[in-house]
Amino acid sequence: MTTKETKLPVVNESGFYEIRMESIGGLGANLAGKILGEAGVLNMGFNGSNFSSYGSEKKGSPVKAFVRFCDPNVEVRVNSPVIEPHILAIFHENLSKSVPVTQGVGPDSIVILNTSKNPDEARDFLKLHAGTLYCIDALKIAIEEKTRINTAILGTISKASGFLSPDAIKDMIAKNLGKKYASLIEPNLKTFDRGCNEAVSKKFAPDGKYPYVPFTREGQKIGYFNQPIGGVIPVAGSSVSKDLSGSREGWIPVLNRSKCTSCGECDITCPDYCFVWENGVDKKGKPARILKSIIYQYCKGCLRCVDICKFEALTKHKEFEVDRTIIEKGYTE
Ligand code: SF4
Ligand code: SF4
Repeated sequence: MTTKETKLPVVNESGFYEIRMESIGGLGANLAGKILGEAGVLNMGFNGSNFSSYGSEKKGSPVKAFVRFCDPNVEVRVNSPVIEPHILAIFHENLSKSVPVTQGVGPDSIVILNTSKNPDEARDFLKLHAGTLYCIDALKIAIEEKTRINTAILGTISKASGFLSPDAIKDMIAKNLGKKYASLIEPNLKTFDRGCNEAVSKKFAPDGKYPYVPFTREGQKIGYFNQPIGGVIPVAGSSVSKDLSGSREGWIPVLNRSKCTSCGECDITCPDYCFVWENGVDKKGKPARILKSIIYQYCKGCLRCVDICKFEALTKHKEFEVDRTIIEKGYTE
């Protein structure tokens, strides 16, 4: 399909309309960038490019996806990261705790945040200098539609941009899913529409509440000249501070201790050592190791533990419906 000729609403000095997606591996930003890039170039007639940057780990590590559009008569000769985005899409709000996601965002930028917060709360959470902030609860939509958050975010990008045709993007979503995943097309198109319709926005002027965060390129602290011999990890215990909660796609296991036999199957199955054990007594009163709780900081929501538990002591729940005290304690009785 090709939509009617569309003009870019604004471009930078190089002639580009630029989009940056800040995400965590597993949330689908890479594919979202590809779909958006193809929709703009193949279906809307722009010139453009898209590429992603991510580390060696697949799930849980920061991912950035970049999309550039320009008029057909402009040549694409820029392959660097997007520094001052016209649209910034943040796929997981907790990313802002570890990554300076709002770098380069000014009063004319559009920021899209996957959150259940309202725009005022979200601005304070992000410490956003200025710009138009769109809040969309993409995780809730994805759970309800049994899809992923990326198509909901694409819906909000389409709405917020004012020029990226929903039909052009939906056509490309369907093409990317193709015959192989034909059953997912309809729910993903519904997710896209909800991303369009359910986003709420507010424009924030640069009122001095939070400073502008300029783009800075962080150099590698360790490289060819100064890396420890033998690949030694100089930060002992770094796995303790690791946080995989951003990898979850809306589901968590909940431990019901009254049903648990402390058989240990879940502990063997869990890839991230989330289970905590303590000394206690078994049902016959003999000293034994007893399963105490789950540390959700390390849980990426793969739910393998739920599948393996024969006693229904671990059950699958929508994270946003689980009481915070259960998540803090790591179990229920
Ligand atoms: S597999 Fe189930 S019963 Fe066994 S220790 Fe884990 S939660 Fe308890
Ligand atoms: S869902 Fe279960 S198996 Fe998967 S990381 Fe979390 S605790 Fe471990």
